[in-house]
Amino acid sequence: MTDNSRPETICFIGLGTMGREMAINLMKAGHRVQAFDVRREAVAGLVTLGAQACPSIAAAATDAAVAITMLPDTPDVESVVYGDGGLLANPPTGRLVIDMSTIAPGAARRMSTEFESAGVDFLDAPVSGGPGGARSATLSIMVGGRAEAFARAEKVFAGMGTTITHVGASGAGQTVKLCNQLICGINIQAICEAIALGRASGVDLHQLRSVLLGGSAASWMLDKLGPAMIEGDANAGFRIDLMLKDLRLVQEQAQALAVPLPATALMTSQYIEARAHGEGGNGNQALFRVYDRMTNQARSGH
Ligand code: NAD
Repeated sequence: MTDNSRPETICFIGLGTMGREMAINLMKAGHRVQAFDVRREAVAGLVTLGAQACPSIAAAATDAAVAITMLPDTPDVESVVYGDGGLLANPPTGRLVIDMSTIAPGAARRMSTEFESAGVDFLDAPVSGGPGGARSATLSIMVGGRAEAFARAEKVFAGMGTTITHVGASGAGQTVKLCNQLICGINIQAICEAIALGRASGVDLHQLRSVLLGGSAASWMLDKLGPAMIEGDANAGFRIDLMLKDLRLVQEQAQALAVPLPATALMTSQYIEARAHGEGGNGNQALFRVYDRMTNQARSGH
């Protein structure tokens, strides 16, 4: 992938909320996509947009310059890499694999070592920006791995994101992503607290939000999730279950390195409370329901 204007054939595995939009943008950027997902309907939906449906990981990797994975959790990526017919045994022809899921940094480092032994470059490249950023190709992409591999992958990243940063050696992308997630979670919790206090005090919550957005309390979360939190819309968005997966990875890393994260621990317990009330499939903004319960302001529906 040295010629930056040449379209590439890209193997894309995992066409869910994020992967589907990212694959579509790669096609819009002129690349060919060979798609695989365990859910046939996810692949079928992309074929009408120009992707080639593949019956297996190996078929999707054949003749591809790069293979990208966008899967829920560490075991899912491990099964696609190490499992029967996986990417380690069937690497793409261009010998570059990029995992864009959020997984454990240690697992990413191990994959990098295994791929390197097989003569294949591996990058961990998790993303931030949510489904909206995936749709508009404005993701922030944080990349760990060899600088030469990053240089080879840059034009593919450019089809999916706008802030594309090589943050260090293998696993560093995942570590930066975990830092991102703990800030997001604590920020959502802070907004829930402000809304609970503002509501109990009788102030106009939409006005509260717009005033805060003009000052030093402004944040992406307040901007993007604030309206749903105020209106009581728990449904769409980054699922609480996925956030709890990320928070588990944060805690594992923190414990391994003996770093105390007291605010993260408190916020995580509130996410667990939300899941215990059946909200694992709701968006992250549904943390407002924890505060609804604590202030006896329960609203209808999940
Ligand atoms: P998702 O659950 O919507 O999609 C995952 C896809 O992977 C599904 O289509 C599923 O069928 C497929 N899959 C699972 N196991 C597979 C396997 N073994 N082989 C092939 N396909 C398989 O998840 P998502 O929201 O797209 O998130 C993907 C990753 O990106 C996660 O690690 C998540 O934490 C991260 N992420 C998500 C968001 C978000 O807002 N949703 C934002 C940033 C990062």
